[in-house]
Amino acid sequence: MTLIAPEYVRQIAPYQAGRPISEIARKYGLDEAGIVKLASNENPLGMSPAALEAMQAAIGELARYPDSNGFDLKAALSAHYDVPQDWITLGNGSNDVLELAAHAILEPGASCVYSEHAFAVYALATQETGARAIVAPARDFGHDMDAMAAAIEPDTRVVFIANPNNPTGTFVPHTRIEAFLEQVPADVVVVLDEAYNEFLEPGLRFDTVEWVRRHPNLIVARTFSKAYGLAGLRIGFGLAQPELTDLMNRVRQPFNVNSLAMAAAIAALGDRDFLERSYRCNRDGLRQLTEAFDQRGLRWIPSFGNFVAVHVGDGARVFESLLRQGVIVRPIGGYGMPQWLRVSVGLESENQTFIAALDQSLADRPA
Ligand SMILES: *Cc1c(COP(=O)(O)O)cnc(C)c1O
Repeated sequence: MTLIAPEYVRQIAPYQAGRPISEIARKYGLDEAGIVKLASNENPLGMSPAALEAMQAAIGELARYPDSNGFDLKAALSAHYDVPQDWITLGNGSNDVLELAAHAILEPGASCVYSEHAFAVYALATQETGARAIVAPARDFGHDMDAMAAAIEPDTRVVFIANPNNPTGTFVPHTRIEAFLEQVPADVVVVLDEAYNEFLEPGLRFDTVEWVRRHPNLIVARTFSKAYGLAGLRIGFGLAQPELTDLMNRVRQPFNVNSLAMAAAIAALGDRDFLERSYRCNRDGLRQLTEAFDQRGLRWIPSFGNFVAVHVGDGARVFESLLRQGVIVRPIGGYGMPQWLRVSVGLESENQTFIAALDQSLADRPA
């Protein structure tokens, strides 16, 4: 090793993404058209036709840099969520927003708290800064807010909460989060990651923006990747009061969000019909998958997102067996759940293909 790099960078285990369709087609000699990808919690309905149209209209301007301050999208979000524009941070995916929060606040000597089985990006964002990670034990695979509060130490500056969480699909009721926010020291930044918020049934969707008004140390992160179906464009945003928003703005790339993404996001935000169809498709698909798991006596974790974790025994073996059949799901051994697979909710026919392949994989179980 001749290059000098911080030890905390050498310690990073790179993110394991869902395997692309093209790669699986090459590796297993399969036809791309027959492959079913239920590995990255993407929207099986695609995207809003209005978003596609908006991108087509914006494509002629791609020789120019995007608006560094994202005025038009911030105006749309400001109206949609009833917050001032200087409360909004745009990100290259909400992943960017999570990292901006970490980079603005963390440093070597500080610590960051998140839950066992929580979204992998929290560990990455923490490690990139040289801060120390404190992993609070989960309860029934979900965030245990008491354990998280107890895990906070004097040097803790950031807490990440995923609600719902990925890959477990677990959800913390709003009363528990509200109590946590009251409890957390005022100088600890709480990042509430709501990537799957739009999949919650209406009774569970509470007004988290109201919490942002009350807590200057809170940032709520949302994304256009999941329910809005714009994962490939990389666009998300954070809502926080101006002091925190200003700090994040200082560590952001000047042009972190591209023009097509902003144009599409504005259109997507206005297409309530597409969002409603996504919600219903997901609700029906989740029911289809979990009923199939029940019929087969497979354990699964009740999910509030657009995916579900199912207990299959040897997760790595079943994952490989599914790949050979052209079905891509996500092994989650890296999340401390080697006996589970995470499957994203697809169209009815895709879910059915997965279930049939799963039957085959489980029947092939070595003695
Ligand atoms: C998918 C996901 C995100 C962000 O995805 P982006 O595409 O970067 O917006 C954030 N948090 C969780 C928990 C997720 O599952």
